[in-house]
Amino acid sequence: MFDVKEIKKDFPVLQQEINGKPVAYLDSAASSQVPLQVVDAMSQYYATSHSNVHRGVHTLGERATSAYENAREKVARFVNAPLPQNIVFTRGTTEAINLVAYAYGLHKLQEGDGIIVTLVEHHSNLVPWQQIAKLKGAKLYMVELTEEGHLDMEQYQAFLKQGNIKIVAVTQASNVLGTITPVKEIIQAAHAVGAVVVVDAAQSAPHLKIDVQDLDADFLAVSGHKMLGPTGIGFLYGKGKLLDAMEPFQLGGSMIGLVDYYESNWAEVPARFEAGTPNIVGAVGLAAAVDYLTDLGMDNVRKHEEELLAYAWNRLAKVEGVEMYGPREPRTGLIAFNLDDTHPHDVSTVLDAEGVAVRAGHHCAQPLHKWLKAAATNRASFYIYNDEQDIDRLVSALQKVKEMFGYVTR
Ligand code: PMP
Repeated sequence: MFDVKEIKKDFPVLQQEINGKPVAYLDSAASSQVPLQVVDAMSQYYATSHSNVHRGVHTLGERATSAYENAREKVARFVNAPLPQNIVFTRGTTEAINLVAYAYGLHKLQEGDGIIVTLVEHHSNLVPWQQIAKLKGAKLYMVELTEEGHLDMEQYQAFLKQGNIKIVAVTQASNVLGTITPVKEIIQAAHAVGAVVVVDAAQSAPHLKIDVQDLDADFLAVSGHKMLGPTGIGFLYGKGKLLDAMEPFQLGGSMIGLVDYYESNWAEVPARFEAGTPNIVGAVGLAAAVDYLTDLGMDNVRKHEEELLAYAWNRLAKVEGVEMYGPREPRTGLIAFNLDDTHPHDVSTVLDAEGVAVRAGHHCAQPLHKWLKAAATNRASFYIYNDEQDIDRLVSALQKVKEMFGYVTR
């Protein structure tokens, strides 16, 4: 059903040798690889249809506009948004969340209001809220974790009872622990007190079927480059009535209705939030990535990752000195770990020499690392083109690290 060998053929980057070894790419949580279908769609666009969008009345302008707007429709269908107008193209998750923070938070919040975030947030869904809270004199509440590493839902409920919570910003999947959070329950509880919810779906959209209407999410942010698309493109989903009532985030061309000497008014949504020339080819690439994932079927993607995760978890658990972080379930296909007290940068350097690519560092989640009492971790993350061999390569490369740093003598 899920033929990784066939899938790998679409990814020439994975067919090369790195440091004389075939590459085992286990860093898709940072950026996934891009299939030929996406590369081809982008080069086809440049070869046949490129121009600026929404303005020219010439044929190439119309082709570019329809490629861009078709991409919006595909993305809308992918997350089950009611209309394409619910989708605002952005540079990625970071820009999408900043858009909400500045175009919604800055205008709606008042002194003494509350914003709830969680301890597992990527800095992208934390720092903008810290800043908005500071600018508006609002209070930031951070939901911490239970001993097992799940969000402390009792603490969340207690924060909601403060009576002044206006925004809840939560990730659907942690980029360090992989933990899938109970977003639907979080949204229901937030709505019961009149708060809006911003969902960071950077680590969930590539791996899980997302239905914004079923979740009843107010805003949801996604990056294209973690779901087989190019860098520099992502999107914000927003409920129509919220987006319609929002002031623009960036100002300039394409987002205006009428500009007079001393004042201007704004275009309709989503143009209002897409100032300047957009990343047209990026949107075309993202649409091709959505097609690729849709053809595979998101349920199949999830199943494949669950199988790989189970295999990797069992294998890593048997490597003496490996500490894996976070609860086993529910999680996406990634594992953050440390090996004895070898620094993650040393571990990943040795792994790289073996052709195994993992990420090392705090993964833009310093508060979570503080809670884990680890300055840094290694993170191995899996996607559609990974198989058990990649995990085996990781495990044998870890044995090399142990030999090199003196934990194993021969
Ligand atoms: N949130 C999460 C959970 C992430 O993993 C990332 C990417 N590491 C981001 C936000 C930021 O995404 P981007 O850099 O594409 O804006």
